[in-house]
Amino acid sequence: MSTEQTIAALGRESRTFEPPADFAANANVKADAYERAEKDRLGFWDEAAQRITWAEPYTDVLDWSGAPHAKWYVGGKLNATYNCVDRHVENGLGDRVAYHFEGEGGDTRTITYKNLQDEVCKAANALTALGVKTGDRVAIYMPMIPETVFAMLACARIGAPHTVIFGGFSAKAIADRVQDCGVEFVITADGGYRKGKASPLKAAVDEALTSCPDVHTVLVVKRTGQEVAWTEGRDKWWSDAVDGQSTEHTPEAFDAEHPLYIMYSSGTTGKPKGILHTTGGYMVGTSYTHYAVFDIKPETDVFWTAADIGWVTGHSYIVYGPLANATTSIMYEGTPDTPHQGRWWEIVQKYKATILYCAPTAIRTFMKWGHQIPAEYDLSSLRLIGSVGEPINPEAWVWYRKNIGGDRTPVVDTWWQTENGQILISPLPGVTATKPGAAMRPLPGIVADVFTEDGKPVGNNEGGYLVVKEPWPGMLRTLWGDDDRFQRTYWDRFPGVYFAGDGAKRDQDGDIWVIGRVDDVMNVSGHRLSTTEIESALVSHDAVAEAAVVGAADATTGQSIEAFVILKQSAHGGGEDIVATLRQHVRDEIGAIASPRSIMLVEELPKTRSGKIMRRLLRDIAENREPGDSTTLADSSVVDRIRSEVSGG
Ligand code: ATP
Ligand code: MG
Repeated sequence: MSTEQTIAALGRESRTFEPPADFAANANVKADAYERAEKDRLGFWDEAAQRITWAEPYTDVLDWSGAPHAKWYVGGKLNATYNCVDRHVENGLGDRVAYHFEGEGGDTRTITYKNLQDEVCKAANALTALGVKTGDRVAIYMPMIPETVFAMLACARIGAPHTVIFGGFSAKAIADRVQDCGVEFVITADGGYRKGKASPLKAAVDEALTSCPDVHTVLVVKRTGQEVAWTEGRDKWWSDAVDGQSTEHTPEAFDAEHPLYIMYSSGTTGKPKGILHTTGGYMVGTSYTHYAVFDIKPETDVFWTAADIGWVTGHSYIVYGPLANATTSIMYEGTPDTPHQGRWWEIVQKYKATILYCAPTAIRTFMKWGHQIPAEYDLSSLRLIGSVGEPINPEAWVWYRKNIGGDRTPVVDTWWQTENGQILISPLPGVTATKPGAAMRPLPGIVADVFTEDGKPVGNNEGGYLVVKEPWPGMLRTLWGDDDRFQRTYWDRFPGVYFAGDGAKRDQDGDIWVIGRVDDVMNVSGHRLSTTEIESALVSHDAVAEAAVVGAADATTGQSIEAFVILKQSAHGGGEDIVATLRQHVRDEIGAIASPRSIMLVEELPKTRSGKIMRRLLRDIAENREPGDSTTLADSSVVDRIRSEVSGG
């Protein structure tokens, strides 16, 4: 994206929100953290590492001599599960709730830290008895239930890296991942509850394993009690293998660089990448950022990351970060509209959640359903709310703060990636005066920047490529089995600097706005336009719930702007002139250059299973092409439906 031509739309957001005074006064992290980290970055990460209990101390904070393969906390030894569980029990916190589990059908379980220790020890003993050894990869394909966490922590406890595969993925996606990381051992469940029904999981594993001959054991948790096919010799019930085991298990200390897990990215832009995270740096990175960004007070907070454990957000902020910090979390199994559209708010009210962390796709869905739904519940326990996963449109940010945060709570828009392991760019809730839609600035200890085409930092009011100039503890170490792709994807574009693949912009104050993927930036008559900016302009109109914008090839202008818009439920039946109104609205908000050539009203948008809009499929529709690879799409029929809506069918 050439800096001089990037349209200056985003700098015009003028609303800012100061942290409430009492929040600021009591915040875990204050403004001085930035200065301390800037003066002595490694000293800062040394101090943060004291949050973790090391079985053997490290000798150096960072060894970057093998760049881009980092070694953090060199020579240190630790056990991730001990840090998440045992040490809290030893410290007298065994009765504290680790998870309030809420099943979709309303069944609940309360898991204390002592319960967690017992279950994880039993599961670790069971895995060992079944032949899982340190270094073996274990695939986990589960619903959102406590056993998923038991399984992950049992793997971490014995040093067997897990690879959690999101429970909505197909047999093909399971097979790809199992083969890619050489898995011989799978943990799954008969099924899970989604949209009011028992939906099968084991069936997909069975199908996947027809092409994965190396898998010799499948452990099956009974969740729904539905009928399952059974392969004798290979399949074993979790309860048979685990229940009779001892609750005693001595955690072994592993090297700080021992692999903790492999997580495949969402696949928004292409083939998912097997991202490898190791133990020491990841534990420090997640624990510190959970403490700093969410201002966690473990004695009193009830923390809810409303995401699936199958994504990195769930790994870092449902499992490892919160548990390292002895936090009480909520875990919810199901969908937000089962059995009614107020389900999330009912859960916030019931458990008196204090912190909520979710994705813009959810927020825009709630906007579409209407603000009167959350208004029926008592959300006054909330003191902080956060967002992750996509750029959040300023209007959605303001809606979220007003209708969920009671016009009172700070909002943290957190930018990071599966590759990053931990939040990198975000407001500090007790420090930053936030701007709706801006991730603001790198956290203390993180050196991120926005680069021009030729690798120079952009000035204010300029856009470019988001990069990270110094290594950070939670960073990926490589792509599983593919050092070349690791090097090419992240380190070749600007040598020695991490290339995130996202476009960003610095506003007049130097604050960072992430404006979407580099691949999504459009070129219209020589002007570089970001899809996010135009989408945000559309969403800022009262009638619009959600919008996706793409650039379609155009002989005269290079690319033309094509918009796909979902109207709010309250705005339906607005007639034809809504399209003209919206086109004029974008002109008013950004300028004539940004006015879409066509605006198509649709009922839904193609999204990945983690809820991100897949613009490349919309580009295929706009350019009248057969849609490309859609295996990571949540609902594969959406593209056909949009195609028929667009052609007036
Ligand atoms: P793939 O890399 O396989 O195409 P993906 O990039 O969607 O998939 P993730 O690692 O889950 O996989 O998502 C990270 C991406 O999500 C970021 O690169 C960015 O594009 C987007 N993102 C995450 N948080 C934010 C945020 N707060 N603001 C803007 N964009 C965000
Ligand atoms: Mg990505």
